[in-house]
Amino acid sequence: MNYLANDKRYDTMPYRRCGKSGLKLPAISLGLWHNFGDTALLSNCREMLLGAFDLGITHFDLANNYGPSAGSAEETFGRVISGELKPYRDQLVISTKAGYYMWEGPYGEWGSKKQLISSLDQSLRRMKLDYVDIFYHHRPDPDTPLEETAEALEQILRSGKALYVGISNYSPEQTKAMLEVLGKKGIHCLIHQMNYSMLERSNEAVLDVLDEAGVGSIAYCPLAQGLLTNKYVNGIPSDSRAAGHSVFLTKDSITEEKVKKAAALNELAQERGQSLAQMALAWALRRTTSVIIGASRLSQIEENVGAVQKMSFSGEEEQRIEIILAQ
Ligand code: NDP
Repeated sequence: MNYLANDKRYDTMPYRRCGKSGLKLPAISLGLWHNFGDTALLSNCREMLLGAFDLGITHFDLANNYGPSAGSAEETFGRVISGELKPYRDQLVISTKAGYYMWEGPYGEWGSKKQLISSLDQSLRRMKLDYVDIFYHHRPDPDTPLEETAEALEQILRSGKALYVGISNYSPEQTKAMLEVLGKKGIHCLIHQMNYSMLERSNEAVLDVLDEAGVGSIAYCPLAQGLLTNKYVNGIPSDSRAAGHSVFLTKDSITEEKVKKAAALNELAQERGQSLAQMALAWALRRTTSVIIGASRLSQIEENVGAVQKMSFSGEEEQRIEIILAQ
């Protein structure tokens, strides 16, 4: 398939500096956790990836285990980055991660040097890449010494297999400790990736640590997997994540309380002249460098990038949101 990127793609997306680094990330990034595995339609994956890039999304987020099956999202991405997107490699920031269960035996997960280095080598092969832009340790490991995980990240940087390193799902204390260990090696942690949205605010203390340290932040599940859209306001549609096989968003997790909050937030979003998804993304971007959205179709990505048209909130709007969320 011949593909020529939209020449207006850089006109509207804001690119924001990632902490005290030289790297800028698009306000909206795209993640391949769901809907890009080998059970997904390749033509739809391709349409979403190319469509996202045409809208100014330069950052794609992956992990070793994204699928299903585990690893297949990287393979899908590999097909597109070695095909239509190949001429644009230097315009893209591609991230992957290791730390969650990926293969059997004692080395297939957590934070040892063995796990991180072999996993990244596998990811590079699946994606047909020489390097990724950002490599993350996906979750803290209670047993491996931080020094060893940091040493693995250092080796990955020095080998050129990643340009920057980051951490994900670390608590405030774990984050401070890792930043210190990396700092002693002369390594700046670029970014922390955490669950953050109007419905998930437990990581605000991590954001405080990052702001203080000049480390960038990127929110995952900024739409609470679809709850912060108008999708579930009138029940569970058959083509939604909650109606599918995801163990991460089950039908039971669509509670009446959350749906009521979404409906009230939806009213405010309409008054602001945007959709609930757009308002939820703009809200998360008050605190973070970028948000990683997921999508099952291009039209969602098109709607979501519209968040950048109205990013600011009045004091009164902020208060109304706090009241709705506290209910
Ligand atoms: P979101 O909260 O953005 O949820 C995405 C889902 O919401 C879509 O798949 C779609 O679901 C629905 N949706 C999105 N936009 C709209 C819209 N405009 N209208 C209606 N429905 C919409 O993010 P994800 O939960 O997908 O996570 C995003 C990324 O974050 C992942 O791909 C991954 O890269 C990263 N991540 C990182 C983790 C970590 O541990 N570091 C953990 C989890 C995620 P539907 O299928 O129902 O249409």
